[in-house]
Amino acid sequence: MGDSLAEPKVDLHTHSIFSDGKLTPEQLLEEAQWAALSAIALTDHDNTDGLARAIAAGNERSIEVISGVELSCVHDNKEVHLLGLLIEPNEKMSVEMKKMRDNRESRMQLMLDKLEAMNIHITMDELPLSETNSLGRPHLARVMVKKGYVKNISEAFEHYIGDEGPGYVAKERWSISEGLELIHKAKGISFLAHPGASGLVDYIDEFVRLGMMGVEVYYAKHSPELEKRLVEKCAEQNLLVCGGSDYHSAEAGPSLGIPFISYDILKKIKKRKDELWPVS
Ligand code: AMP
Ligand code: ZN
Ligand code: FE
Ligand code: FE
Repeated sequence: MGDSLAEPKVDLHTHSIFSDGKLTPEQLLEEAQWAALSAIALTDHDNTDGLARAIAAGNERSIEVISGVELSCVHDNKEVHLLGLLIEPNEKMSVEMKKMRDNRESRMQLMLDKLEAMNIHITMDELPLSETNSLGRPHLARVMVKKGYVKNISEAFEHYIGDEGPGYVAKERWSISEGLELIHKAKGISFLAHPGASGLVDYIDEFVRLGMMGVEVYYAKHSPELEKRLVEKCAEQNLLVCGGSDYHSAEAGPSLGIPFISYDILKKIKKRKDELWPVS
């Protein structure tokens, strides 16, 4: 997007140790400064407990932190991720998300049982369990790499724990309507995350009818053709756009700030929030 050095760069999709990212919120903000970002959204999976720390760390570095979340939903038996941006987490959201995180722990045990049957010996105490952590497959993949069962994280997903893999167990997930309701009740703006990467482009209209407000158009795995198609679609249907790196760690996957979006895009998202929930 922007070419000028002076233009503020924004990344609206990042993860921390409060889900399956490797960095603490403080480390994430340090990297955001290195990446010359003016604003980032922390969007941990099914968890908002890292936001306060991210905001405090952002204040120290003069980087704006947008409160976000990435909710794991299911539709047509497909995993759908919804991003909620500019959320104001409430009690119901916290309780619902805690339930999902508890389920992630029991689901992990079932996955370990499946792996054990394939002679891959990993126990729960080797995983980073904590009250606030949203335990996910990337945590498991990292242990599999560390113990030498696979060469890298991609191999863990490809051979064992990918959606079609022999070690996969589905986690509990919200329906799209439930996910959207959680986001909107928290006065957040809802987006379909990485539609291209998860093969969900054809579902956009259906989700918009359910109340979804925008689409994550800018994403490293989206081709320029898809990006163009999504930009046009959003313009035609008055949908908001967002974009970000989906940064989890330096060791695998995309780099922080790639792609970045312009601050103008964030401004439009803020404007929509102000229209929907005016501050009196
Ligand atoms: P979970 O929420 O435990 O089902 O794990 C899903 C997460 O695993 C996604 O949000 C991604 O961060 C990560 N993931 C999914 N597929 C892959 C893959 N093929 N390679 C690396 N990470 C992946
Ligand atoms: Zn993740
Ligand atoms: Fe996602
Ligand atoms: Fe993500």
